[in-house]
Amino acid sequence: MRDDLHNPGLPIRLNLGGLELSAFSISGLATYVTVPAFDACFDLGHCSVSASHQRNVLLSHVHQDHALGVVRHLTLRSMHGAKPSRIFVPAESRDGLIEVLRAHERMEQRTPQDLDAMVRGVSADEVFALSPHRTVRAFDVTHRIASRGYTVTERRRKLRAHLVGQPGEAIRAARERGEELYDYRDETLFTYVGDSTLETLLRHPEVGESAVLFLEATHLPGTSPDVSAKYGHTHIEELADLYARDPRALASPHIVLKHFSMKYGRRDIEEARARLPPGLRERVTLLIPPEP
Ligand SMILES: [Zn+2]
Ligand SMILES: [Zn+2]
Repeated sequence: MRDDLHNPGLPIRLNLGGLELSAFSISGLATYVTVPAFDACFDLGHCSVSASHQRNVLLSHVHQDHALGVVRHLTLRSMHGAKPSRIFVPAESRDGLIEVLRAHERMEQRTPQDLDAMVRGVSADEVFALSPHRTVRAFDVTHRIASRGYTVTERRRKLRAHLVGQPGEAIRAARERGEELYDYRDETLFTYVGDSTLETLLRHPEVGESAVLFLEATHLPGTSPDVSAKYGHTHIEELADLYARDPRALASPHIVLKHFSMKYGRRDIEEARARLPPGLRERVTLLIPPEP
């Protein structure tokens, strides 16, 4: 029995790159990653109470194990009188998702919500604001159906060097003269890739610039990489090979591997990490619960 690994109601808590995260991910069962600092969840295969507190839901794609929690997210938030959910979904899947949500409203005889405003289609390379200082860039991901990855950047400002240590009066005077007081810099905080083949990383090596990077490794040694390719997934050995050839896409200080197939136990998953090359292995966090 692998009950301890396969309980989507028991998220795993992580603190990586200064971000508190609560997440769960097993292939075919459920995947979700909540980031309260962003007021956001990435994928929502299961909607926990804490996930319902995050207003923004960024779906990589609409396979059930990534999207089924959206129905509950909408109802929990309306039950609690919270602001309406903001659901981001690949543009190709938006109409279908709205139909599912409408069907639930009809079946449950609920007052229709303004789903057209709540569900936003996202195209590849689209950029949108998550909050005044945080921006998301979507990018195209290779999977069996339309899929997007999401990178969150934060704009940080720093008082210009010549003003540091100056009295408030001098800074006010500079502002009144119309001088620019700050230098701005965009920090790449976080990238989320849902289900994907290795091709996504070949096309988007810039994901390696993120402080925290979520990737899938559905298949492990003992399964052929052909199986991964057939179902639109990544085999952990492909990540090791990529690291040997071109480590740029795997340069993040914190790489979280997730979405392991249900056929693997804790030992299989931990052994697969142990076989990763040094230099990569130490930076990899496995998204499985700590040993009970
Ligand atoms: Zn999946
Ligand atoms: Zn999928």
